[in-house]
Amino acid sequence: MPSSLRLLFISTPVGPLGSGLGGGVELTLLNLSQGLRARGHEVTVLAPVGSSLGEIPVVEIAGQLQPTAHTQGRSAPIILPSDSVLGNLWHYAQQHQRRFDVIVNFAYDWLPFYLTAFFRTPVAHFVTMGSLSDAMDGVVQQVGQQFHRRLGAYTRTQAETFGWPDSFEILGSAIDLDLYEFCPAPGEALAWLGRISPEKGLEDALEAAEIAQVPLKILGKLEDGAYWQRLCDRFPQASQAYVGFLPTAELQQVLRQCRALIMTPRWVEAFGNVAIEALACGVPVIAYARGGPAEIVQPGQTGWLVPPDDVQGLVSAIAAIDHLDRHACRLQAETDFSLAALAARFEQWFEAIVA
Ligand code: UDP
Repeated sequence: MPSSLRLLFISTPVGPLGSGLGGGVELTLLNLSQGLRARGHEVTVLAPVGSSLGEIPVVEIAGQLQPTAHTQGRSAPIILPSDSVLGNLWHYAQQHQRRFDVIVNFAYDWLPFYLTAFFRTPVAHFVTMGSLSDAMDGVVQQVGQQFHRRLGAYTRTQAETFGWPDSFEILGSAIDLDLYEFCPAPGEALAWLGRISPEKGLEDALEAAEIAQVPLKILGKLEDGAYWQRLCDRFPQASQAYVGFLPTAELQQVLRQCRALIMTPRWVEAFGNVAIEALACGVPVIAYARGGPAEIVQPGQTGWLVPPDDVQGLVSAIAAIDHLDRHACRLQAETDFSLAALAARFEQWFEAIVA
């Protein structure tokens, strides 16, 4: 094992860790911090006030939250509120940089990329979404051109959305398998998990479940209230199907009882942590073949991939769930998405940057 690294992880400024506003990044930060600490590295996490990250200590930074990138348009200018938490996080990083070997940015925001050249300690960026705006594309590309191996992404498909995928280390994701219990005999319901926001396409899952006449359980952060209201108007069963935003322990108790997870992204999903959480419980994944899920699902074994936006395709896949093997799902999670493997990949990346 290489020598111990001192790592500073800087969280997303869109919400406190634990709020769900950060989406899958919150789980990735937790898992990665745990995995790297288990390998003997020192990890310090900086995050907005109110954050909690399991057993991992967090340095909490005050300031106004940042709007989420996926709610802005492609040509949107860069926005920074007054007393910006993003600015304050990076001010802290600048002041304390000498204590660290590598600083790692988890925010999908312009400022940390722009600041990279002004730091003495190397700054690496784990890019958590695909291309969404011209301003971000420009500054991410600048870092990719100016510095060697400073960009990381979840999946190849995600990196391709930027147009120059070879500039990215493809690092994947992982989960703590011990937290997810295998369930061999599920109930009738299907699960849909995620932030309730238009890019996640929940309406297609509701429609497919309605046509297939199977119950749906919806779990996740209610991010866009107006969108949710429109869904409830169109699908009266939606409000009953909504279980809430649950912590991992409770989430997996509900999820593992489901026959399959339905993933209906309208955007190029960077990864889709919920897919591997489902697999870990033995729950197959029915997903649009778009973004991360297309790299995760093994069609006919651990799920079905459906042409994007094809609701009838979802219905056909629901009818074919029984062809899938729940043991194969758990096995894939164990083989492809272990925490130890993820930590080893990131460790290699950081070692290369320090070298
Ligand atoms: N999640 C959760 N509780 C819920 C529903 C979802 O904690 O009730 C978490 C889930 O564990 C996952 C995240 O929300 O880590 C969603 O991440 P994903 O990568 O699937 O999508 P993103 O939000 O990043 O686009």
